[in-house]
Amino acid sequence: MAPLIQASGLSHLFRPFYGGMGHILTFHRVIPPLASPRIHNHQGLEVSPEHLEEVIRYFVKRDYQFFSLDQLQAALDRGNVDQKFVVFTFDDGYQDVWQYAYPIFQQYKVPFAIYIATNFPDHTAILWWYMLEGFVLRKDHISFCLSGKTYDISCSNREEKEAAFANLRQIILNEPDQLRLPGILNTIFGDLYSALMQDSQSLSLNWEQIRSLNQDPLVTIGAHTVNHYPLSQLDESMLQEEVEGSRLRIEQEIQTPVRHFAYPFGKKGEASRREFEFVQRAGFLTATTTRIGNIFPAHKDFPTALPRISINEVSRSPVLTLQTTGLIPFVVNRGRRVITD
Ligand SMILES: [Zn+2]
Repeated sequence: MAPLIQASGLSHLFRPFYGGMGHILTFHRVIPPLASPRIHNHQGLEVSPEHLEEVIRYFVKRDYQFFSLDQLQAALDRGNVDQKFVVFTFDDGYQDVWQYAYPIFQQYKVPFAIYIATNFPDHTAILWWYMLEGFVLRKDHISFCLSGKTYDISCSNREEKEAAFANLRQIILNEPDQLRLPGILNTIFGDLYSALMQDSQSLSLNWEQIRSLNQDPLVTIGAHTVNHYPLSQLDESMLQEEVEGSRLRIEQEIQTPVRHFAYPFGKKGEASRREFEFVQRAGFLTATTTRIGNIFPAHKDFPTALPRISINEVSRSPVLTLQTTGLIPFVVNRGRRVITD
């Protein structure tokens, strides 16, 4: 921690050049740490409710303005702000945002946005990584036969469960054909398949919750495609289906125009100039990536290519300072400000 604190002191030197006008934060899930036993392997996309509150207080203490995405867009249009701003965004549409994050935002009267991948509330998403977690936590021993190979995996203690998770995750990731995924999961999970599927579906927000969130002026509902594919790999017509399709589906449910978008995965390999221009032509006011960076006046001309700061379990106060002053973005982007690419 000491070197981090030292670095966060020095990082103020970067603020005038890399700190920008404000920041957009990326979250995925908010879960109390001991809600249930977990596999540690994939907690990188989760923070605790206390941690979320700590992040809000970090910005309160530093006199930030809390912006909605519409307010962000207005600030970009003006090209300046009298006070730094921060925008809170959540990707995918997890149920715990409703359960644990929403009450905190209400308490602090802080606006936030949720980008919905519509296959989450439509229950057509296969959240296999959570199914797999549930599977190894329930089993003491795993055996199955896949592509002519027999697997026998002991899974009776913490260490073995972590190892089994990593091992099976790799087997699933090694399958390039997504259409074969349900078959593979069926083979591995056996008679637990439907129960695990049901459990994983309960992790996503339902349309009733989304409609209710949308009634609150603090909340912006944005689009995050239908199927959460890396968009750069799609042809034009599929790109259209994913981008426009998710917007239409959400608008049909909430009866409100959807004007903001987030790219699935959102790194350089998954969303780039073609996608930025497409989303702008489709009429979205802003769109966010997962490129790391702060927001500058120059983003006025590129409102559908906005970088964000990802918040995970290490993003405590000293790390937040390294991110918001621009030192971490400076290092990650080798001295470049992320404006377009
Ligand atoms: Zn996502």
